[in-house]
Amino acid sequence: MATVLEIDLAALAHNFNYLKSKVKPGVKMLAVTKAFGYGTDAVAVAQKLESLHVDYFAVAYAAEGVALRKGGITTPILVLHPQLETFEEIITHCLEPNIYSYRVLEAFIAIAEEKKLQDYPVHIKFNTGLNRLGFKPGNEDQLLKTLKKNEVIRVKSLFSHLVASEDLNEQEFTRNQISKFKSCASKMITGLGYAPILHQSNTSGIINFEEAQFDMVRTGIGLYGYGNDPGEDAHLKPVATLKSLISQIHEIEPGESVGYNRAHFAEKPERSATIPLGHADGISREYGNGKGYVTIKGKKAPILGNVCMDMVMVDVTQIACEEGDEVIIFGKGAPLPELAKKVGSISYELLTAISQRVKRKIVNT
Ligand SMILES: *Cc1c(COP(=O)(O)O)cnc(C)c1O
Repeated sequence: MATVLEIDLAALAHNFNYLKSKVKPGVKMLAVTKAFGYGTDAVAVAQKLESLHVDYFAVAYAAEGVALRKGGITTPILVLHPQLETFEEIITHCLEPNIYSYRVLEAFIAIAEEKKLQDYPVHIKFNTGLNRLGFKPGNEDQLLKTLKKNEVIRVKSLFSHLVASEDLNEQEFTRNQISKFKSCASKMITGLGYAPILHQSNTSGIINFEEAQFDMVRTGIGLYGYGNDPGEDAHLKPVATLKSLISQIHEIEPGESVGYNRAHFAEKPERSATIPLGHADGISREYGNGKGYVTIKGKKAPILGNVCMDMVMVDVTQIACEEGDEVIIFGKGAPLPELAKKVGSISYELLTAISQRVKRKIVNT
């Protein structure tokens, strides 16, 4: 298949170093590689970051952590949303669970006791406003009671997640989240008698809230080249470039239609180019009918009619191009946030949507 997602590890290294330069010396870097490394190649990304001495990895689910271990990754891995039935797997592969509720805490302690573990590293999450996962502030005393009466687990870190760190209109809310987290953390540290790693920032937190750096920052989207802000994007380099080529060019007569359900009609003579990439590859039907486009010879070619499962047809009437010519969907030479925005989406969604059918190709430029 001609369509490939090129993963540029040199761009990844650049982004990692840039984000590291944004945090105070000594602040640890956690790289988020969930969802196949935001749709890239989690193992290749993690191997590169490990060579750059990243301090931690995080994934959403246990299987994603296991894949990293199978790829030879030895750096600690935090599992952000562990499912109870994967605790065995988590322990077998030395993955570290996020403990976000009493249900999870009790279940993990039970299995840790059964396995006679000692000081198994776990991470306690506080809900400071996202209302997604985490203990509500105010639970510190009860939590400490449970944590202190057993030695099978040890709190490696205390963390929380910001709701709107990219949105400066929500600065007050974010500062409130930071102060809530500080207060939970200090109660926990006093009660535990030792100081776990504290972390709260995601990529936009790193950029916008220096006071939220604590001991470690968690970065995902920034590593892959996007900073949720055009100014920041300028400092970062896209890691993933989705490329394809023109399979066939058609001359369309006025009155003819293009694609399924005759969604596009030509009013004047047009040229269409067929590209081997469709909704099964992650370019959803939302991008059809002129909302989305591909880039050919530096020019935008809007999608004509409906996106098919395996193909799109694009308008190349104004572009001097031939069958076999290169097509860029996003990445270097075609900014991804701009394309995602056309359908009301964001870089996170478009990146992670690229399905596993699209071949990943590792490059170092
Ligand atoms: C996905 C995720 C991150 C990474 O966020 P970015 O905005 O991609 O930097 C950090 N922390 C948690 C808890 C996450 O789920």
